[in-house]
Amino acid sequence: SKAKLFEKGESTNVTFKDVAGLSEAKQEIEEIVNFLKDPQKYTRLGGKIPKGALLVGPPGTGKTLLAKAVAGEAHVPFFSMAGSDFVEMFVGVGASRVRDLFEQAKKKAPCIVFIDEIDAVGRARGKNPSMGGNDERENTLNQLLTEMDGFGSNSGVIILAATNRVDVLDKALLRAGRFDRQIYVDLPDLNDRIEIFNVHLRPLKTDDSVDVELLARQTPGFSGADIANVCNEAALIAARHNKEYVTKQDFLNAVDRIVGGLEKKNKITT
Ligand code: ATP
Repeated sequence: SKAKLFEKGESTNVTFKDVAGLSEAKQEIEEIVNFLKDPQKYTRLGGKIPKGALLVGPPGTGKTLLAKAVAGEAHVPFFSMAGSDFVEMFVGVGASRVRDLFEQAKKKAPCIVFIDEIDAVGRARGKNPSMGGNDERENTLNQLLTEMDGFGSNSGVIILAATNRVDVLDKALLRAGRFDRQIYVDLPDLNDRIEIFNVHLRPLKTDDSVDVELLARQTPGFSGADIANVCNEAALIAARHNKEYVTKQDFLNAVDRIVGGLEKKNKITT
């Protein structure tokens, strides 16, 4: 059923503490938290609160996490849907899902609506005749634009969307009054990786041999999702060997496995 396709205004426990690194992105997005918490502060001089912001960056860098943290910090409900969920074979389904999503969100305002992979629905119109249902996708995009224009900018619904392909998006989405703010979420640098490791080491039972800086040095090009994966893999490797604690060697083995996986993936795509 379509109810299952999106998180229906659940509250989230995610806060900025769970998002490591990304200090600029956090700083920029903090303003949206403030808009949600105290809209009057911003509208009292006649200004309009932005309706949306686009989170732009490579896969696994924490865009979804950051969007959830905005909802968590502002204590507002979080609705989320993936762009690919809107794109269906059957005429009218995508557009009606968009309508549905916003209808529910407006009832629960103030709230966050998060659209992951917005490029799946938001590609420039009339340029991508692949995959049959192109007209259907355009109908869905038009419905999304209509919804964004339909509610007042001070309605309390703020839409965050994520993409790694801002270049393919329909310019209409980026126009003033829609996604007119872009927040960059990049791959982590060395210091960010240290922070991300620290977040994901927290729940693990590790021994003194584990050296966070060494791990961060061994993982250039890793995303936050890759690092989360390393930590989990290391814990499973240690458990497989009936160890009492996860050790440095388990982490290094996990890094090797994941580097191996990433190399395979790159061979296929390049
Ligand atoms: P995609 O574009 O592939 O949807 P994304 O950018 O939305 O990816 P997330 O889904 O937010 O990435 O990240 C996946 C997981 O990776 C998170 O749930 C978290 O465990 C971990 N992660 C990613 N980035 C960070 C970060 N900056 N700090 C802590 N954990 C992170």
